[in-house]
Amino acid sequence: MVVGELAEAADLLVIGGGPGGYVAALRAAQLGREVTLVERAGTAGLGGTCLHVGCIPSKALIELANAAHRTRELEAAGLEAEGVHVSLERFQTWRAELCGSLARGVGDLLARAGVRVVEGLARFNRPDRVAVHTPEDRVLFFEFEHAIVASGSRARTVPANALDSTAALALTAVPPTLAVVGADYIGLELATAFAKLGSRVTVVEPGERVLPEVEASLVKPVLRRLRKLGVDVRVGTGIEGVEAECVVASFGRVPNTDDLGLEAAGVAVGDNGLIAVGPDLLAAPRIAAIGDVVAGSASAHKAMAQGVVAAEVLCGQPAAFDAQAIPIVVFSDPEIASVGLTEEQAREAGIEPVTATFPLAASGRAGTLGARDGFTKLVADATADRVVGVHAVGPHATELAAGGALAIELMAAPGDVAATIHPHPTLSEGLHEAAALLLGQPIHVAAERAAAAQP
Ligand SMILES: Cc1cc2nc3c(=O)[nH]c(=O)nc-3n(C[C@H](O)[C@H](O)[C@H](O)COP(=O)(O)OP(=O)(O)OC[C@H]3O[C@@H](n4cnc5c(N)ncnc54)[C@H](O)[C@@H]3O)c2cc1C
Repeated sequence: MVVGELAEAADLLVIGGGPGGYVAALRAAQLGREVTLVERAGTAGLGGTCLHVGCIPSKALIELANAAHRTRELEAAGLEAEGVHVSLERFQTWRAELCGSLARGVGDLLARAGVRVVEGLARFNRPDRVAVHTPEDRVLFFEFEHAIVASGSRARTVPANALDSTAALALTAVPPTLAVVGADYIGLELATAFAKLGSRVTVVEPGERVLPEVEASLVKPVLRRLRKLGVDVRVGTGIEGVEAECVVASFGRVPNTDDLGLEAAGVAVGDNGLIAVGPDLLAAPRIAAIGDVVAGSASAHKAMAQGVVAAEVLCGQPAAFDAQAIPIVVFSDPEIASVGLTEEQAREAGIEPVTATFPLAASGRAGTLGARDGFTKLVADATADRVVGVHAVGPHATELAAGGALAIELMAAPGDVAATIHPHPTLSEGLHEAAALLLGQPIHVAAERAAAAQP
């Protein structure tokens, strides 16, 4: 401790202004707390990884790539689009404006809620005290009643001749040849986008398969599509022998817990850098931890949901993080949504699963999109008559995740889903049809055809 340091009182202090931190700050303010949020990048950094180098820029790039590519694909459907040209330089300007305006939106929400945003690097130096190193080289001390660690994660260091996802998303020109090492969802999303923008792409995955985070059957349509896009996918191998002007390495993420002084705060960090928490998200009696710094899938929606719970716990409310299903979404082509238990996970959990799969080949809406490779699969607990999993691969499948999560959280029976009117023509009908199929009442697909199309 610095001799003579003067500490300001902070009722509830949040470290990190990403989706976990800013949501926690807003919820705590709603509950009447005086909130101070410390973000090392200041108000411009509000929104964190998700807004500046993650979800938003990657989905913006994917959207651009899809639009450019689709104009060519829809020629057969009557679209005449000569000479489509993409300027990644203009895209970067547009993206910076988009991210800036969204970050200002977060700043506005925090200001309206009365949250004070302090720019600087926060570090615990006592169990109840944080030192904040400001850009002006000053050190501010805050003595807190409660704190929430939401410092997120960063890309694992990549070799000097390679780009990490942040650098890849900032490219201002489409590389003629591109190698992506690491076929997790971040690597695969980038590979697909650049292939559609015109790069000749090779994906190299040293592990056994691409997208290990989702069930293998969901990945098959994605692999078929990558082949059509001319992407060379190699698994169980390294980059040796691959020639590419640009190499992107997706080696996973590292939690930002190594330079937070967590030891001084009495917070234990595991070998993997993650902070151990229980359902109350408490890492120490007065300190909660949320988002990418704790175990579980690293996603913005998990961080936000935990932000609400952590704020409520620290405000004395009877809250706990007890999600039945945290959706996994991959913006591959086709997209993937995986919510709740897979058939195999259900069996491992001692559940007797029954499943039904509706093939997109039978979907009118998929037909209008010219994208009929994919399916929606429903997994139910036969004994409890409950939906326990919804898995989809197809166009806009990520939009189906919410309906699946709702069914699981509300403990819907397959009959409830089948009795719910789904709008036509939409891809959401796949869930309805899968439920009807499970009940032995299929309408838009013959049972034997659905069985034959099983992934
Ligand atoms: C390329 C890419 C694509 C992604 N796509 C998706 C997607 O489609 N959907 C999805 O759900 N998730 C996606 N993610 C993951 C998602 O971005 C993260 O899971 C999410 O941002 C985690 O939120 P968080 O609040 O825990 O941390 P972060 O968003 O990482 O925010 C942490 C904040 O804390 C600040 N900070 C760190 N240390 C300090 C300190 N000592 N003092 C002060 N401030 C500090 C950082 O500057 C940062 O702003 C993607 C990630 C990447 C990289």
